[in-house]
Amino acid sequence: MDNNTCIFCKIINGEIPCYKVYEDEKIFAFLDIHPVNKGHTLVVPKKHAVNIYDIEESEIAEMVKTGKKLALKIREVTKAEGMNIHMNNEKAGGQAVFHAHIHLIPRYEGDGLTHWPSKGGYADGEAEELAKDISNLL
Ligand code: 5GP
Ligand code: ZN
Repeated sequence: MDNNTCIFCKIINGEIPCYKVYEDEKIFAFLDIHPVNKGHTLVVPKKHAVNIYDIEESEIAEMVKTGKKLALKIREVTKAEGMNIHMNNEKAGGQAVFHAHIHLIPRYEGDGLTHWPSKGGYADGEAEELAKDISNLL
């Protein structure tokens, strides 16, 4: 997908309307059209990237920096009791729009959004091996 077909690129370029909450040289943020709760905001890089795997470190750093700034303001305006910062990556990870984005989701006690289920633990030694496999690649 490129800038011509990507829905978030079109929003950034003004070809599709949105309720913008923030913009600077690198970042654009707007209200999610189907909010979990009111004030649910998407933070996206202006430069198209698909997701966590291909985005430049400096770009995601800017997204997180802006997310921090916006979370405080969203909390102030919505009186949110909690806040989720969430990123879906790839179809199996729940990604529906393939332009990298972070969700800022205002949360309230008893708002009905539940935590992900625990699918059990590890067999003996399995966690140690897995942690080593990952850290050995770094
Ligand atoms: P994903 O599952 O990819 O992390 O989430 C994509 C999000 O983008 C969804 O929460 C969806 O409601 C939001 N979204 C999809 N299309 C549009 C749109 O055209 N405008 C806005 N404002 N949000 C959109
Ligand atoms: Zn895009």
